[in-house]
Amino acid sequence: MYPNYLFRRPGYTRRPGNSEGKCKFCQLLKENNWSIIFKNEKVFSVVNLHPYNEGHILLLPVRHVNDPRELSEDESIEFYRVMNYLLDILQKVYNTSSFNIGFNLGNASGATYQHLHLHIIPRWLGDSGFVEATSMTKVLKESPKETRDKLLKAIKEVVK
Ligand SMILES: [Zn+2]
Repeated sequence: MYPNYLFRRPGYTRRPGNSEGKCKFCQLLKENNWSIIFKNEKVFSVVNLHPYNEGHILLLPVRHVNDPRELSEDESIEFYRVMNYLLDILQKVYNTSSFNIGFNLGNASGATYQHLHLHIIPRWLGDSGFVEATSMTKVLKESPKETRDKLLKAIKEVVK
C-alpha cells in the first residue's frame, strides 16, 4: 500500500506504560493542546509533530482504544465522516488529491502509541526523493505550527 519507510521514524523510542492514564494522545486532549485542529464528542485530529510531509495529520477516536474493531458503530461512522471532511480540507489547502492513509496496529507494525490513530499524509509527485528514501530524513517546508494555522483557517466545521 505504501512504502515501509514512510512509517519508520528516526529518534522514536518505544515508551513503556502506554496505557490510558499515561497516554500522550489522551493527555493532548485533556490539556486542549495547540496541535488539535478538530475535536467533537467522538473524534479529534492533531497535526503530527514529526511529519513525513507537509500537512501530515492524525485522526483519533476520543475514547482510548487501540484497534479499529473496538470502535462502536457510531464512532466508526463518525471516524470515516471526519476523515473524509479532513481529506477535503487537506486537498484544498495543499492542492493535491494524493494521500497516504494508514493505521499501525500492534507492536510488530511500528506503532509508537497504543491510542488508535490514523495517519493522513498529503503526497505530491516527486515529493520523496533519493535523500529521503535512503537517509530517512526529510526537509519540510513548514513547521507543525504552520500546518495547524493553515488547517484551522480552512476548517469551517465547528471545533468543539
Ligand atoms: Zn489514549
